Amino acid sequence: MRAAATAPGPQTPQAYDTEFTLQLEKLRELLGTYLKPEDIERVAAAFRFSAEAHKNQFRISGDPYFSHPLAVAGILTAWNLDAQALMAALLHDVAEDTDITLDEIAEKFGKATARLVDGVSKLDKIEFQSIEEAQAENFRKMLLAMASDVRVILIKLADRLHNMRTLETLRPDKRRRIARETLEIYAPIANRLGLNNLFRELQELGFRHVWPLRFRVLGKAVRAARGNRREVVGKILVAIQARLAEAKIEAEVSGREKHLYGIYRKMREKSLSFSQVLDIYGFRVIVQDVPTCYLALGALHGLYQPVPGKFKDYIAIPKANGYQSLHTTLIGPFGTPVEVQIRTTEMNHVAEAGVASHWLYKEDKSLPELQQRTHQWLQSLLELQSASGDSAEFLEHLKIDLFPSEVYVFTPKGRILSLPRGSTPVDFAYAVHTDIGNRCIASRINHELMPLRTELKSGDQVEVITAAHAGPNPAWLSYVKTGKARSQIRHFLKTVQFDESAALGERLLAQALRPFELGAGEIGDAVWDRFVAECGAKSKQDVLADIGLGKRLPAIVARHLADGVEKTGAGAAEARGQGPIPIRGSEGMAVQLAHCCRPIPGDPIVGLIRKGQGLVVHMADCPGISRIRGEHAKWVDVEWEPAGGKLFEAAIKLEVENRRGVLARVAAEIAEAGSNIQHVTMDEEHGVYTALYFVLQVSNRTHLARIMRALRHLPEVVRISCVRE
Ligand code: MN
Repeated sequence: MRAAATAPGPQTPQAYDTEFTLQLEKLRELLGTYLKPEDIERVAAAFRFSAEAHKNQFRISGDPYFSHPLAVAGILTAWNLDAQALMAALLHDVAEDTDITLDEIAEKFGKATARLVDGVSKLDKIEFQSIEEAQAENFRKMLLAMASDVRVILIKLADRLHNMRTLETLRPDKRRRIARETLEIYAPIANRLGLNNLFRELQELGFRHVWPLRFRVLGKAVRAARGNRREVVGKILVAIQARLAEAKIEAEVSGREKHLYGIYRKMREKSLSFSQVLDIYGFRVIVQDVPTCYLALGALHGLYQPVPGKFKDYIAIPKANGYQSLHTTLIGPFGTPVEVQIRTTEMNHVAEAGVASHWLYKEDKSLPELQQRTHQWLQSLLELQSASGDSAEFLEHLKIDLFPSEVYVFTPKGRILSLPRGSTPVDFAYAVHTDIGNRCIASRINHELMPLRTELKSGDQVEVITAAHAGPNPAWLSYVKTGKARSQIRHFLKTVQFDESAALGERLLAQALRPFELGAGEIGDAVWDRFVAECGAKSKQDVLADIGLGKRLPAIVARHLADGVEKTGAGAAEARGQGPIPIRGSEGMAVQLAHCCRPIPGDPIVGLIRKGQGLVVHMADCPGISRIRGEHAKWVDVEWEPAGGKLFEAAIKLEVENRRGVLARVAAEIAEAGSNIQHVTMDEEHGVYTALYFVLQVSNRTHLARIMRALRHLPEVVRISCVRE
């Protein structure tokens, strides 16, 4: 709540001075109980400085503005906070609302104080909009992440408490907004830090201003029921005290008053009537040490019967905020449920004041020691936790809450995104949407144009500027933090590479198709589909990319495609390369050429008739036959029938010098000799020489001989041979 600069208050300057001189004396007295004299003087200096700076400002209520920072400091003294925190509390609105700068504060009151002031005003600047529960949680985490020092949060909570206490003077709609924010954001933070009293008060005030009518009705009902209640509470209290005394347990027993918001929530969440909720009585038993807690529990379970399943041991397993107690529910007189909390004095301090209890109940308060204390507090929670296992998870929990490995930033629409620490606007862009990441060209952080590699901080408002035809820059990979951004950038770059290769492959293929007097457009889908299936590729695009990347030869692909076009174009089922095998005397018989020796016309051949296989034609000197000789098989003399057009497979092996482009030259030579390459493989070794294996389509023995002769003339070819197994 800011000063309303136009509302002049009733005070004269003299009255102002007198009023605050009195207040300063009061504060000194309070601080005298726990601060060193020199620290008290520093706080007093901050007091005078702030009172002077806010001199002509007033709150909406008409009170001098300085009454607010003073009240905030007052709340902090109740937690025995140190001088730096008190100075920061007194100065927390100075840098925002007056012309005094942070540098001046640092100079006069120390850098640590200025840092605390800066931390608080940063929290003031961010505004919570969404009411979704998940967003509320992110917002709470954002606040905790931004407050690198626990004291910043404590000052902010005290600030909020005082604003809530003085909320009446605001307009109803403003009042409701602030109260709702308090219920959703600040009360849960207080709870998480274990600041129980503050948590309760923020909830009560929030309830009162968000639902004023319900608050009044419920309050009245509770007051009306109080007389009757008091009687029952008194009876049970006496019974508990008597039983504990009997068991020789020293304890302090008290009845607990229910908070209105607690009653309201129970009614709503558990659909209970008012009297059902109010009929539950709460008691607290405070004892000396942990073993006594369990003794007291045993004694009380002997007094009234416990409700099964209601016992909770938060001593063995503390809550995440450090809270420890034994909770049990008993069936009291007349069947009324009685809730009992049993804890030690120490545990009670933590339960009431949480993280602040470390300022409250220890002496000596130099700063490093304070930090150490906070650390120790976390450490002690950890140790307690590790006794019951699960410490890794518990540590993770604390890390997220107080020392987060994450940053929380706003989108332009006020949504909060959580990103790993070190994230950049590029990570942010990909977190919002892949397309935004792929198209981002610049970024604004808090409305200022900033480089894409800037590290984001909690509370930043981030906006990404995109351009329709932009694409990711490979350099981004050197600084993005999130896996999503990294994989999306890689994916995009790979796709681009693939698309570019495919485009190049398409051009190369078009060139290679020219000798066949074919344009790329003349090759139909059916031809492509067949070719893709034959060569084991995934798609046409894949084949084109392979050509572009040099993994396939355009000439070979072109020839296959041209063949395909010819076949479909002629409309004949039996085109070149198919048709009956021209063996004389095989009429009416299924004929196949042996795969072991691959005979071609001109080779001396023999036929072998086997059951279920028909006639298999081998080379006469096929080494494979000797194995079959003795078997139950019928040998026949066969002879090639002179027939044109039919093509046969022949395998050859070339040993070549391993030079660039050798495969292309060999392939060109084969094409020149009028043969198709059916298949080619290459030895993986990359020495001086390498072996190429071709399966070619030839008409006959002479054709093969001509091809081999042509290849032998190539300077790279060292050796050439027919492959027959
Ligand atoms: Mn304030």
